[in-house]
Amino acid sequence: MLPRFLRPTITIATQNGAKQLSTSSQRNAKVAVMGASGGIGQPLSLLLKQSPLVTELSLYDVVNTPGVAADLSHINTASKVTGFTGPDELKQSLKGVQVVVIPAGVPRKPGMSRDDLFNTNASIVRDLAQAVAEVAPKAFVAIISNPVNSTVPIASEVFQKAGVYDPNRIFGVTTLDIVRANAFIGEAKGLDPQKVSVPVIGGHSGITIIPLISQATPSVSFPQDQLKALTERIQEAGTEVVKAKAGTGSATLSMAYAGARFAFSLIRALNGESNVVECSYVRSNVTEAKYFSTPVVLGKNGVEKNLGLGKLSDFESKLLAAAIPELKKNIQKGEDFINKK
Ligand code: NAD
Repeated sequence: MLPRFLRPTITIATQNGAKQLSTSSQRNAKVAVMGASGGIGQPLSLLLKQSPLVTELSLYDVVNTPGVAADLSHINTASKVTGFTGPDELKQSLKGVQVVVIPAGVPRKPGMSRDDLFNTNASIVRDLAQAVAEVAPKAFVAIISNPVNSTVPIASEVFQKAGVYDPNRIFGVTTLDIVRANAFIGEAKGLDPQKVSVPVIGGHSGITIIPLISQATPSVSFPQDQLKALTERIQEAGTEVVKAKAGTGSATLSMAYAGARFAFSLIRALNGESNVVECSYVRSNVTEAKYFSTPVVLGKNGVEKNLGLGKLSDFESKLLAAAIPELKKNIQKGEDFINKK
C-alpha cells in the first residue's frame, strides 16, 4: 500500500479529481519551493503537484524555473504552478504562501561533510529567509538546505532581527533520517517498512543524528553489535548516497519523498487535522542545545507540543551525550554568521 501521505494523490489520479478537491478537509494551501530547479526541488515539486492538498505551487530558483514550471503545469491536477526566476522575482514568489520549503543550495561531493557546505549555503538561506520574513512572515518554513544544524539557526536569527520570529513556525527537515531508519529496520526485520516508525532525534549530520531504535514501533530488538552497525548506517546514510553518486550530488529522490511527507504534514496541521506528529529540528528546551529535533505535535500555529526525548536506552543516552557539543557548535556557527557581521 502507498504511504498515507501519497494516498489522496492516487485517489485523484484514478477517480474524479474535482469531487475529491471539494472535500472539507482540503483547504487552499499555497506552497513555495525555493530552489525548485535542483535535484531535490524538481521531484519535490512533482510530488507536491500531484497532491490535492496543494492548490498553488510557486517555484523559485535562480535558474531554469520557467522550464520546470511549464513542464509541471501540464500535469492534469488542479493546482496552479507558477515559476519565478532570480532575485527580482523572489518576493513575488512568496506572496500569499502558507508553506515555504527550502532545498536551495549546493549538495555534498564525496569527502565533504555537511558543514563544508556552510560557506555557500549560509548566505543562500539567509537571503531567502529575509525575503520570507518580509513577505510571508506567518508561513511555515521547512528548511532542507544543509547544514540543517546551522541553517535553521540562521533563518531564526534573520526572523528575529526582522521582528517576526515565531519559533513554532521554523522547521529543519530531518524526515529523511526517519525514512531511512524505517527502511533499514524494516529490511533487517523483514517488516513492511511503511509500518515501521522509528523516531530520530538530535540534528541532521553524522553523530548528531540519534535514532531511537528502542522506541521503534513495532518494538524491535537487536544484539548490541547489530544495533551499533544499524545506528551508524542511519547516521552515515547520506554519505552512502554521496559516495554512490560519485560526485554528481547527494540524496535527491529520497529527500524529495521525505520533504513532501513533511510538507503534507504541515498542510494537514494547517487544515486542522489532529494528531499530526513529525520529528523536526526546531527551537527547543528539551536539551542544552538551543535547536534540537524531537517528535512534535503540529497544529494550525506550527509546533503545538514538543513530545521530548521519551525513555532512552543507555546506548542512546551515550549517543545523545556525544551529539550535544557538536550540535551546540553548529548552532553557534549559524548564529554567529548573522550576528558577527
Ligand atoms: P542541487 O544543486 O541539485 O539544487 C540546488 C538548487 O538550488 C539549484 O537549482 C540552484 O540553482 C538553486 N539555488 C542556488 N542558489 C539559490 C538561491 N540563492 N535561491 C534559490 N535557489 C538557489 O542540490 P540538491 O541536491 O537539490 O540539494 C539541495 C540542498 O539540500 C543541499 O544543501 C543539500 O545538502 C541539501 N540536502 C538536505 C537533505 C536533508 O535531509 N535535509 C538531504 C539531502 C540534501
